[in-house]
Amino acid sequence: MFWGEKPYHSLDYEMKQRFGEKVYRLSLNGGMTCPNRDGTAGTGGCIFCSAGGSGDFAAPAVLPISEQLRMQKELIAKKRPVHKYIAYFQAYTNTYAPVEYLERIFLEAISDPEVVALSIATRPDCLGDEVLALLHRLNRIKPVWVELGLQTIHEDTARFIRRGYPLSCFAAAVTQLRAIGIEVIVHVILGLPGEDRDAMLQTCNYLNTCDIQGIKLQLLHILKHTDLATYYTETGFPVMTQEAYITLLIDCMEQLSPKIVIHRLTGDGPGALLIAPLWSQSKRAVLNSLHAELKRRGTWQGRLFTSVHYDTQR
Ligand code: SF4
Repeated sequence: MFWGEKPYHSLDYEMKQRFGEKVYRLSLNGGMTCPNRDGTAGTGGCIFCSAGGSGDFAAPAVLPISEQLRMQKELIAKKRPVHKYIAYFQAYTNTYAPVEYLERIFLEAISDPEVVALSIATRPDCLGDEVLALLHRLNRIKPVWVELGLQTIHEDTARFIRRGYPLSCFAAAVTQLRAIGIEVIVHVILGLPGEDRDAMLQTCNYLNTCDIQGIKLQLLHILKHTDLATYYTETGFPVMTQEAYITLLIDCMEQLSPKIVIHRLTGDGPGALLIAPLWSQSKRAVLNSLHAELKRRGTWQGRLFTSVHYDTQR
């Protein structure tokens, strides 16, 4: 299996295969909140989540979706010529609203002729029957992806970060989404307090056994005004060095099934909010180091990882 010039199944490669060219994400804000903040599942939110609901780069929620799309396109067009986009509802929980409202904003997004797919970040406990029926209808118009913030499979870590749902809830949601043909992308955080390399690789290995299509691997960011920031100040728990992160990333990439598209290998901590690790601010430097390490190991230019441990039953 070859993935263009990179030795892993990147989103860039996948999009060029499907749509014939580079496709960019437009981060949108549907103005929703989250049951983990409003008291339905919890009140404090996930321990790491910023006031922006992990959507700090999304457009302002007060603007109509068509205007958000226009603004986001303009920002990208200044840097490069782009013709195809993914409408990405990023901030908070994007299925946590009346289904009529969801239908209106999602239809507005996919009615843009340059939008080739709709990606919706949400929680697995916010996918009721009406929402699933809506996603099913929309998926017949344009491809719909659902992004689930799992972060870890380990229940003790999930309790610590106040995720607010058990692993069984995630597994059930994946089954329901796949039954209606929706692609599932899973968010995993690397470097959560209390998790060592083995624990993180167990999460990757578990995901190989699920019918998921994509993964976003994200370094833990400690952001200002979060409970994680308070915990960090009080305990000074160790955050990863860039070298350790690169090594761990490669271990995770080796562990993952090559069928799973890697959407993200690092994160974009908003500069004004980021407390640690500060080296992660330069996403380009992190990716350059990763690619340099892959080249040093001889894993480049169509050469596959040499020690793939993924579940071969998939
Ligand atoms: S589920 Fe998402 S939006 Fe809600 S508190 Fe957790 S990270 Fe933030």
